[in-house]
Amino acid sequence: MQVSAPSRGPQTAEAYESERRLQLEKLRELLGTYLKPEDIERVAAAFLFSAEAHKGQFRISGDPYFSHPLAVAGILTGWHLDAQALMAALLHDVTEDTEITNKEIGEKFGKVTAELVDGVSKLDKIEFQSIEDAQAENFRKMLLAMARDVRVILIKLADRLHNMRTLDTLRPDKRRRIARETLEIYAPIANRLGLNNLYREMQELAFRHVWPLRFNVLAKAVKAARGNRREVVGKIQQAIKERMAEAKIEAEVMGREKHLFGIYRKMRGKSLSFSQVLDIYGFRVIVKDVPTCYLVLGTLHGLYKPVPGKFKDYIAIPKGNGYQSLHTTLIGPYGTPVEVQIRTTEMHHVAESGVASHWLYKDDKSLSELQQRTHKWLQSLLELQSTSGDSAEFLEHLKIDLFPGEVYVFTPMGKILPLPRGSTAVDFAYAVHTDIGNRCVACRINHELMPLRTELRNGDQVEVITASHANPNPAWLSYVKTGKARSQIRHFLKTVQQAESARLGERLLAKALADLNAGLETIKEATWEKVLRESGAKVKEEVLTDIGLGKRLAPVVARRLMLHGEAQQAEVRAAGPVPIRGTEGMAVQLARCCQPIPGDPVVGSIKKGQGLIVHVFDCPGIIKSRVQEADKWLDVEWAPESGRTFDTRIRVVAQNAPGVLAKVAGGIAEAGSNILNVNMDEERDACTAIDFILQVTDRVHLARIMRILRHIPEVVRISRVRE
Ligand code: MN
Repeated sequence: MQVSAPSRGPQTAEAYESERRLQLEKLRELLGTYLKPEDIERVAAAFLFSAEAHKGQFRISGDPYFSHPLAVAGILTGWHLDAQALMAALLHDVTEDTEITNKEIGEKFGKVTAELVDGVSKLDKIEFQSIEDAQAENFRKMLLAMARDVRVILIKLADRLHNMRTLDTLRPDKRRRIARETLEIYAPIANRLGLNNLYREMQELAFRHVWPLRFNVLAKAVKAARGNRREVVGKIQQAIKERMAEAKIEAEVMGREKHLFGIYRKMRGKSLSFSQVLDIYGFRVIVKDVPTCYLVLGTLHGLYKPVPGKFKDYIAIPKGNGYQSLHTTLIGPYGTPVEVQIRTTEMHHVAESGVASHWLYKDDKSLSELQQRTHKWLQSLLELQSTSGDSAEFLEHLKIDLFPGEVYVFTPMGKILPLPRGSTAVDFAYAVHTDIGNRCVACRINHELMPLRTELRNGDQVEVITASHANPNPAWLSYVKTGKARSQIRHFLKTVQQAESARLGERLLAKALADLNAGLETIKEATWEKVLRESGAKVKEEVLTDIGLGKRLAPVVARRLMLHGEAQQAEVRAAGPVPIRGTEGMAVQLARCCQPIPGDPVVGSIKKGQGLIVHVFDCPGIIKSRVQEADKWLDVEWAPESGRTFDTRIRVVAQNAPGVLAKVAGGIAEAGSNILNVNMDEERDACTAIDFILQVTDRVHLARIMRILRHIPEVVRISRVRE
């Protein structure tokens, strides 16, 4: 709907003022048909504010710039959009083209209006470049995701429609680019939202600018054929009307003009000639309710013979965008095909204005049903995950996050990547390529250097900076969002760790073998096989990695290799026991049964997958095994100093006397030891047995503690406890 008849070229201030006054009067009149007086005043205020802000600015056509936002608002009044949307439409270019900030708009016209304006200008900033279909789809989704509020999309679509209507004044190359973008991005969005009239007008305008020659040829041909057609259309329409009256069905019957782009697409898509496409006559029958639709269908099939297989019931199964109708093709007079669409008034509203029918048919009785369906279809057709709340809430808040789970960002080449919400630049890098992820060191978001952990937002342009020697950082694991990034980082760290550990293990083993006067390269495969079987490892690398990671001791593996090879037991023995410290970690475990400490004579046993277990030489638990499985046992000895403390258990038997425990504890502290645990037995013969777990450095240290404790008069007996 055109509100203004714009005047061209520079004007005097008075002329500008008086023209605005006239336009505002017209707008008020229009709004009076559906808005409350106080809302009209708010829109009028936005009108005056925008007119003042754009004063002195002109479009390329020479029109005052204000004619554009006014026309956009005018299109929105055609959908009966609310005051906030109209204000936003009037103000949508103010922050871009003048000094006025979005904050000011918020203060003057409210937060919602400011958000709508902000949403529209964000969409304005991104440009679609690729011509791949999949990318177009991503771009559409990105726009929808960025909008969040359906009204932002509606304002943007109206903005685009007005720009398309006034495209003629632009340079041909610019015209083509905008028209193509309209065809690929905005018209499909209009279609998805069910805005059929808008969809068709956009396509028609775009067709004219993308392919001007084809458009002209087709337009002429259609015009030429029209006279002929009109007669046939009139005849069929009359026949249908009469038959409806006979059947006592109240119905509106109308002929449908095909739009040029539709004809063009049909010719191309189905390889039909012009006359084949044009010789199909289209009609629409609109009735009051659904049962009547089927009644009309039956009646029409009685009038003309239906073409088998052409009937479609979109009432029972609506199209993705909520469209409902019955479609049938009949064989009309002269054998020409006649396509008929049958629908109710309400279905017609949805078919023509889609999502906008929310606002447009507010006083409709069936509004709530319409709302519900609109809401549902918005969700389903856009593959949305459902947002909370019912349809009433939808109308109240008008905020819907169409793709709550995703963000859409640009690569430097203009390609769009969908990522899960919360993704960071590192996720983006891995989404582009594993190598980019593994080598990334920094990133630019919208041309600004940002930390890699920055969370990406819709429409961000992301550029990853790589360095050839860079490696993934384990810290990334704390913030990456995508499974791909996570698993790739883990994989990298693990492989690197393994490779390094295996190299270290190989060095340690080579040295241990050298101590036995042997070399790693002289070990036969068969020998390795035996050691692998014994240790529970699958491949040689696993054993080497284990050595590198400290899960196995190189001297132990070296001795096993020697023993399973050709070396004699005595030779290996001669090489001396394996030195242990007790600080080897997983490779050496001190047996829990006898808790050996440095200084104790010890032996080691090899357990599958558990490394070496060290027992005290005379531990009662091992006597049997040492005899029966002698080859599992290995001489070990304590290395000179370990630097750690060992837990050991002692039992102190003392006479019952006040403060005896404190005296014993004091003695232990005096000897420089910590008490980890105290346990008191029942009294017996006026004595109590106290069990301590102490931390000692070695046997000498333990002996010193015991000596000090023996000097306490109440202490009767002290001994080490073993299970
Ligand atoms: Mn604009």
